[in-house]
Amino acid sequence: MKLRSVTCWLVLLATGAYGWATPPEDAEQGPLHLLVVTGGHDYPTSFYTLFESPGEFQWDHAPSNHEAFRSDLRGKYEVLVLYDSSREISEGEKRNLTDFVRSGAGMVVLHHAILDYPDWEWWWRDVVGGKYLLKPENGKPGSTYLHDQEISVEPVGKHPILTGLGPMRINDETYKGMWISPKVQVILKTNHPTSDGPVAWVSPFKDSRVVYIQLGHGELAHRNAGYRRLVHNAILWAGNRLGP
Ligand SMILES: [Zn+2]
Repeated sequence: MKLRSVTCWLVLLATGAYGWATPPEDAEQGPLHLLVVTGGHDYPTSFYTLFESPGEFQWDHAPSNHEAFRSDLRGKYEVLVLYDSSREISEGEKRNLTDFVRSGAGMVVLHHAILDYPDWEWWWRDVVGGKYLLKPENGKPGSTYLHDQEISVEPVGKHPILTGLGPMRINDETYKGMWISPKVQVILKTNHPTSDGPVAWVSPFKDSRVVYIQLGHGELAHRNAGYRRLVHNAILWAGNRLGP
């Protein structure tokens, strides 16, 4: 048994199936490797169905940001999907997360993950391009949320993430009073009065492809065909598998 497992390791190393360092450039090179990060906020398991795409996505789940960023992620994953709501992060974890997003790898930030690291200005200002204000800040009141809203959403301009997406209706939670960077490219908006308007944007961050999607609170959103397409496209784009 021991000899056999050693042989397997040698075969894997020789074929490059283990520890590959160069991210695949297209689907022919295999599935995109995702790390999905949760923790700090409840969610229904319907969330996991967003990544059920055999052959396209291969994903690992980290149930906390501490577990996700305790080691160097470069070369292991091509796209980070954040669905956590984390306030605390150690210096070592910060370094691993920073190294990852500076390495050209992609990131999709979903819904309440915009509450992450309010004290880490570079993170929310330059990387995510927005911040949910947990308390009043610089004369701006705290952000607000409202569950179970029927929202009409429409695409803005052209972007590969919008491929196959038209106007859609979704029952979801809205956020209002966020700080949104004037440098983001808004790709989806709503005119619902309890929302800021932009519900998905591409960050101006240059080192990697970063997308934020405000939608996605619960099962009704997770099972909404338009939302599923949106998240799917965003992951493909962040992973350099969709469009320029
Ligand atoms: Zn929510």
